[in-house]
Amino acid sequence: MQLGFLEVPKSLKGSTRMYKEALPSHVKFQRIVMGWLAIASLFFREIDLVWLFFAITFFSIFLGTEYSLPTLFYKLFRAVFSRDLVHISEHHVRYYQINTSMDVIDHILRLMASLMALIFYYSGAEIIAWSVVSFLSVFMMLSAYFGFCLSALSYIGLENLRKKFKSDLSAQSSFTCVSSIGGARSHLNENCILAKQCFTPYKRCDSCHITISECLGTKFNSTVIIIGLLLAAFLFVENQTFIQLNILLIMGLIFWLGYQINYTTDELAQSNDANITLNTKLKNHALSLEAEVKRRTADIEYMATHDMLTGLYNRFSFEKILIDAFEGMDAARPSSHLAFIDLDKFKAINDAVGHLAGDRLLCDMSSIFAQSVGQKGSIGRLGGDEFAILFQDVTQQEALNVCQEICEKAGAYDFIWEEQHFSIGASIGLATLDASMQDIKAVMHHADQACYVAKKSGRNQVRLHA
Ligand code: GH3
Ligand code: MG
Repeated sequence: MQLGFLEVPKSLKGSTRMYKEALPSHVKFQRIVMGWLAIASLFFREIDLVWLFFAITFFSIFLGTEYSLPTLFYKLFRAVFSRDLVHISEHHVRYYQINTSMDVIDHILRLMASLMALIFYYSGAEIIAWSVVSFLSVFMMLSAYFGFCLSALSYIGLENLRKKFKSDLSAQSSFTCVSSIGGARSHLNENCILAKQCFTPYKRCDSCHITISECLGTKFNSTVIIIGLLLAAFLFVENQTFIQLNILLIMGLIFWLGYQINYTTDELAQSNDANITLNTKLKNHALSLEAEVKRRTADIEYMATHDMLTGLYNRFSFEKILIDAFEGMDAARPSSHLAFIDLDKFKAINDAVGHLAGDRLLCDMSSIFAQSVGQKGSIGRLGGDEFAILFQDVTQQEALNVCQEICEKAGAYDFIWEEQHFSIGASIGLATLDASMQDIKAVMHHADQACYVAKKSGRNQVRLHA
């Protein structure tokens, strides 16, 4: 069993320091005990309980919270039962953080209020006496459970006054903390008069940017004070109409409070710094992810449909285009034509100067085809040195002209590689798509046959399928 609770205050052992900084758990317990004591005296209209309140406060004023009667009881209970009477969450520690100066003010305010109640009571103004007690009880409970204490505000006020009267020097110098509350602030909220004084009892104060008039804590606490005082008024009011009006008022305030809580929870979630950063990050990630997926999908799509060497359609997608053209054909107006191209003596270049040179020539030829065809059709590389062109919405003569132009250009093309000159040609077979055909195989066969004839007839020429 520990006997720490009997520890003798330094002040009694000759130390000049009367008060010591109160532990948050002791502050909380003291406020709860004193709050309920004030409520009990109000409820029973028992002036002796106000005397008790006054007496406890009177003795505490010399010793501070750490050696007050409630704290001694707290310590005794803890020593005997090894249990804490109150629990304070990590985030709420700041509610009850109190420095020695604030502790003095805390006790003086309590002493003054209870003394006023006693004076009014014995001078016949009972109603005012009990009103003071109700005010006292509401504030004790509020500071116990909501962490918004008059002593801190009074302390800030007094410190500011002291600074003003002392000299203008401190006013000119940069901001200094006057209160120990909220020492863990990550930034200074210039909009809030309390934050500027380091009075930031709530965790949310650390990332708050709003003014005191917009502060939810202040707004809600004011409503709670009014509701508390209106409830206490039931102890005095006997008139039926006043009671009804009081009930209406309380109900209205409770609904308003509920509405405010619901309404502001959404706003709070949005305005919260961490949420905003997180939302932005998530949005950016989602956007970049979407962009990346789109980019890669486009890449894959391109790779699946195009020939990687020349950039022309590959066999697979060219056949798809051909099927589409075949299926959407107007039987009365056949205007689609298929050309098959096989380069002449291409292999010789591969053999003479290598595949790399062959590849370059394939690309050069693709450019020649694209130049000649323009918007008149689609070009595909079927494999090796074989290409195909699907002419759409052109006459057979127009398609033939383009093919002849290709032969001329291909035949005249002077391919230079490592200072060696090469010339090739293009054999082309042209066939017209016919709605009577069963499928595209037929037209492909026709174009292939015509190409074969072109080869056999001396190369670098166009042959129409008969
Ligand atoms: P022909 O005049 O009768 O058409 O004969 P050719 O020399 O053009 O030879 P052919 O059409 O019979 O064969 C095409 C050659 O193209 C065979 C192969 O070595 C070559 N080849 C196929 N694919 C590629 C490629 O991607 N790059 C290169 N450089 N050569 C290829
Ligand atoms: Mg060939």
